This record gives sequence, structure tokens and C-alpha cells, in this order.
Amino acid sequence: MRALYPGSFDPLTLGHLDLIERGSGLFEGVVVAVLQNPGKRPAFSLEQRLEQIRGATAHLPGVEVGSFDGLTVEYARQCGAQVILRGLRALSDFEFELQIAHTNKSLDARVETLFLATAVHHSFLSSSVVKEVARFGGDVAHMVPPGVAVDLARLFNRSSPQG
Ligand code: ADP
Repeated sequence: MRALYPGSFDPLTLGHLDLIERGSGLFEGVVVAVLQNPGKRPAFSLEQRLEQIRGATAHLPGVEVGSFDGLTVEYARQCGAQVILRGLRALSDFEFELQIAHTNKSLDARVETLFLATAVHHSFLSSSVVKEVARFGGDVAHMVPPGVAVDLARLFNRSSPQG
């Protein structure tokens, strides 16, 4: 089976990456897809986010990277994915995620949503927390892949963590 892992990934965190790694052990293929949400103004361009994900997942066989701007179930169909993969960090994620899962099920009953519990040590991590820390010059090396740390330093005009 193939899974679609959709999200904003603005930017990709080690929590996202943990989910991708575990997903790639469960499925023959995992398509990580950046949702182009017209309602959100991302900090990183689509191309930057795709590059960040490609760089961080290069070691994972079976992982593909894409983007979409329509219905998730529609894109799942295009990718040949039977499962939508999502992460659950805490109770606060639950209500929103359940709402999307039920909506997607009502749109296409053949596509199942599968939730993986976030690794405990990543359960506090979110893209917005990472941006907040980086904005004020905090160290984000334990929160994001190295390439993303470089992009964050550049975004907030800080000296790059790799010199
Ligand atoms: P969205 O805007 O679609 O919520 P995100 O990029 O914030 O996009 O998240 C994409 C998916 O990754 C969601 O299922 C979310 O619950 C999950 N996720 C977010 N942060 C983490 C984390 N730290 N660990 C594991 N999964 C996470």
C-alpha cells in the first residue's frame, strides 16, 4: 500500500521527519505532499519547502515528494495512495484531525486516514514554535533537519549554524 502524508511543512521539523521515517517502514511508498493553502501565508516558498523535504528524506527509499492545491482525497487518488497519514501530537490535535478525517471519508470512502502518535520527544514540536525560536535567535538544531536550520537562519538574518 501507498500512503499520502499531506501538510504545510512550513518548515519541515524532526517531528514530521520521524513520521515520514516510520511511515516508510509501514508502506511500500510514502508521498510527502506540500499543501498549497491559499488561506495561509507561508514563511517558506513552495520550492523551498519541497527542497527541504527532498534533502531530509533522500536516504529513505520509497519516499516521494510532491505538492497539491486541491482536495487531499483527489491528490491521494492521483498518487495511487489508499491511506492518508497524519500525526497526533496531543489532545489539542485530535478534534481538528478527526474533523478532516471524517470530511475526507465522506468525500471518498475508499481512502482511509491513519494516525501515528508522535514520538514523545517531538510532541512539543510545531513549525510555528520552530519559527518563533529561530526568529529570536534560539538554537533549533534539535528541532529541524540541518538544511532547514540553515534556511531559518537565512530567513531571520541570523548567522548560519554551519558558519
Ligand atoms: P497542517 O497545516 O496540515 O496541520 P503541518 O505541517 O502542521 O500541516 O502538519 C502536517 C502533519 O504532521 C499533521 O498531521 C500534524 O499533526 C503532523 N505533525 C506536526 N508536527 C508534528 C510532530 N512534531 N511530530 C509528528 N507529527 C507532527
